[in-house]
Amino acid sequence: MFPVMEVVVEHQAARVALQSPVRARRVCKICAGPGIVVLHQIRGTAYYYCASCDFLQNFHLEDQRGAGATPQEENDEARARLWSAGDQAAMQTKGWEILGLMSSPLAWTSRSVHAALKKIPAYDQWYKDRARKKFRRLLDFGCGHGVIVFELRKKGFDCTGLDPFSPVLDPHIYRTPLLEMRFPEEAYDGIFSIETMEHIPNVIETYQELHRILRPGGMLLVQTRRLEDPDYQNEREQWFYLQEPATHVSVYSETSMRRIAAKTGFRSVRFRGVKFARFEK
Ligand SMILES: [Zn+2]
Repeated sequence: MFPVMEVVVEHQAARVALQSPVRARRVCKICAGPGIVVLHQIRGTAYYYCASCDFLQNFHLEDQRGAGATPQEENDEARARLWSAGDQAAMQTKGWEILGLMSSPLAWTSRSVHAALKKIPAYDQWYKDRARKKFRRLLDFGCGHGVIVFELRKKGFDCTGLDPFSPVLDPHIYRTPLLEMRFPEEAYDGIFSIETMEHIPNVIETYQELHRILRPGGMLLVQTRRLEDPDYQNEREQWFYLQEPATHVSVYSETSMRRIAAKTGFRSVRFRGVKFARFEK
């Protein structure tokens, strides 16, 4: 009986030993500054805020690793929770919307003007042609089921997807973490990332790598809810984006994205609404 007791005590001690160093090194994931403060507590997970970066972050994934969960367990859990089949028809038109946001200046200056012009066949054709010319090699970073990847491939783009949590087995879908892929430098003309960046814990390394694999003049289009969202301003802890603290670990703002762009070599970053950001190399 005694040996069993000892094993339990040792196991608990090992857990504490594993977790303590992680807790002691809490710094902002963007600026590495130690001045981060707990702003929200959502179901036992603390969201830390860096006033210097205007960036909201939690350390759930780091703590989970410290507590001994294997990457495989994390992947299985996330895959089961994150990906349902989605609305196929809506996703099919999404590909062109994304390319419009990359290639057409009008899509950025006025959403309503762009939407109205898209109904004119000549304009619609113009931005599709422009997209085909400028962004032939595309990466969907966080592609999920790859619906947009396959749709754009049908339209003649050399589009691949990357998502360690993708349930799809296909040669054009990489199920390997970005930093392990070792893509060649300047491999892509354009990268888009839909509802993915909020799941990224290693923020700077990720943007650095995306910058490295983009050609000069290439663009990274990011869709993730930002802190400027009026829903966050009104609802705070009740905001739906904070209700998934286990996976929504990074919540950005215009300021934090500008900081990231400057730190990782992007020439500029432009914003539309509270969801879209376009990083230009
Ligand atoms: Zn910071």
